[in-house]
Amino acid sequence: MVHVVILGGGFGAVYTAKRLQPYLKRHPEHTLTLIAKQPTFIFSPLLHEVAVGIIDPEVIQVGLHTLLSLSQIMYLFRSQ
Ligand SMILES: Cc1cc2nc3c(=O)[nH]c(=O)nc-3n(C[C@H](O)[C@H](O)[C@H](O)COP(=O)(O)OP(=O)(O)OC[C@H]3O[C@@H](n4cnc5c(N)ncnc54)[C@H](O)[C@@H]3O)c2cc1C
Repeated sequence: MVHVVILGGGFGAVYTAKRLQPYLKRHPEHTLTLIAKQPTFIFSPLLHEVAVGIIDPEVIQVGLHTLLSLSQIMYLFRSQ
């Protein structure tokens, strides 16, 4: 059994977890833990549009649970 731990909930973390998802689906004995500061992924290339009020902050955020819907993933959210 392999236990993969990914630190962070940004681009690198999400792409890594997404690439591992098909493998984890085929191997349910393996698990993944994602440790992030917050439960959402923020699409940073649009942050400047939020800063100047063109779009709402909610538009560039999506829950990590929604992006990575796999029961083998455990989430730990740390504020520091
Ligand atoms: C305003 C802006 C616009 C950008 N536009 C573009 C663009 O147009 N095109 C492009 O290619 N790139 C763009 N970038 C750069 C792009 O966002 C970064 O290259 C990319 O986010 C890097 O991915 P990453 O996974 O390394 O880091 P991040 O996506 O920053 O993820 C790091 C994660 O680690 C978490 N973290 C940090 N410390 C801890 C801790 N101690 N414990 C737990 N979690 C922690 C953070 O909360 C975050 O979730 C932009 C960046 C910004 C800020």
